[in-house]
Amino acid sequence: MSETADRERNEEVTMDEIVALCKRRGFIFPSSEIYGGLGSTYDYGHYGVLLKQNVKGEWWRAMLQERDDIVALDSAILQHPRVWEASGHLAGFTDPLIDCKSCKLRFRADHLEDASCGHKPSKRPGEGPDCELTEARRFNLMFETHVGPVQDDASVAYLRPETAQGIFINFKNVLQFARRKPPFGIAQIGKSFRNEITTGNFIFRTREFEQMEMEYFVPPGEAARFYEEWIGLRLDWYTALGLRPGFLRVRPHDADELSHYSSGTSDIEYLFPIGWSELEGIANRGDFDLRQHAEYSGEKLEYFDQQSGERYVPHVVEPAAGADRATLAFLVDAYDTEEVEGRQRTVLRLHPRLAPIKVAVLPLVSKEGMPEKAREVFESLRHRVWAEYDEGGSIGKRYRRQDEIGTPWGVTVDGQTMEDDTVTLRDRDSLEQIRVPIAGLAEELAERLERPWQSPKR
Ligand code: ATP
Repeated sequence: MSETADRERNEEVTMDEIVALCKRRGFIFPSSEIYGGLGSTYDYGHYGVLLKQNVKGEWWRAMLQERDDIVALDSAILQHPRVWEASGHLAGFTDPLIDCKSCKLRFRADHLEDASCGHKPSKRPGEGPDCELTEARRFNLMFETHVGPVQDDASVAYLRPETAQGIFINFKNVLQFARRKPPFGIAQIGKSFRNEITTGNFIFRTREFEQMEMEYFVPPGEAARFYEEWIGLRLDWYTALGLRPGFLRVRPHDADELSHYSSGTSDIEYLFPIGWSELEGIANRGDFDLRQHAEYSGEKLEYFDQQSGERYVPHVVEPAAGADRATLAFLVDAYDTEEVEGRQRTVLRLHPRLAPIKVAVLPLVSKEGMPEKAREVFESLRHRVWAEYDEGGSIGKRYRRQDEIGTPWGVTVDGQTMEDDTVTLRDRDSLEQIRVPIAGLAEELAERLERPWQSPKR
């Protein structure tokens, strides 16, 4: 761990290589590309959809399926504008913005060291001879829109900049209908929108993205303990899904970084090609949110314990992750190249549970009944695991394609299959091939999917 902790950036792969692979294999495309692109949003293609779906699925699994104290929610993106007054976003969800009057670019005042000015040779803003920077001013990141046919001040609404507020405003509903008592949590996955001053680094920072947030409501005296517990749980989630521990770290915020409501925030950071950067934030938010919404809405947002007669406003511990950022980290951590029998191969060493396709079924050649047989095997597997059938091109080429989309197992139907109903089962990482009877294939794959997995890049 210490060896990686000293490093400033992940030098195993560049962001350009990740972008190129994602485009080449249909994971992720720049959005509106035929119109020159929007620059700040991305479209997910087939394998990207499946990969991100698996990331979100694993989050739901950890939050809901494997626990009994958290329930799900899917709240609206458009909410009453008072929500954002109460939450403090209208007044305070701002970044410091600096304009350069000379090159006309805009920068985040607190990210100047990562920015380059518009003049060549490119320097940091303010360091070139022609740079003319303005004073920093506050820029609100919320996207404004209008609800209904009349566009006036009364119809202004905002696209949510986080999913969390949708949870707080449903606290009462969940308390009543889910019959929960603190400690209990409400989890939500959904789109959020932020008019970021500068975007970039592929899907790391975009203006439209998906968040995975959980608000854990606890008795006030227990918040500090649960805050520590959730940092550990969330870190374990990433490592169990294959991220190498040496490429992860927890960074507690300094006092001057903390939001006004937070008595503690820690970021889980990953060593990206752009350096250590936030994957997820875990915050001890105290009772700020429920108190604010109670005040602004006039509703009582508290917990009454009928047995003890105790009444209190629960405190909140929040793990807030980004589905796109997590997907990017899994892609970066998985990317590998190696030479096999004199040929270079690129392989995504994804945790099998995250891999878009679990098994590829390939006839060795497109004749002698092999395609028909392989199709039969594929049909028998597809109901159990995500499978893909491919008969186009040489077997080597088809394997390379599957390696690049991270498919952990390949099944080949060959001459021997036609005689004894066995197939070869190839492992993406070790390249080991074993013969397995078709009849036992689905069980074998199901069993392999359940096994703990570690990155062979460790
Ligand atoms: P940053 O400091 O990177 O702007 P943040 O601290 O504002 O992030 P939070 O408000 O804590 O982020 O949001 C929780 C998570 O949502 C982040 O850890 C990140 O994974 C994700 N996220 C936030 N903003 C973006 C964005 N513009 N694009 C993609 N993911 C984002």
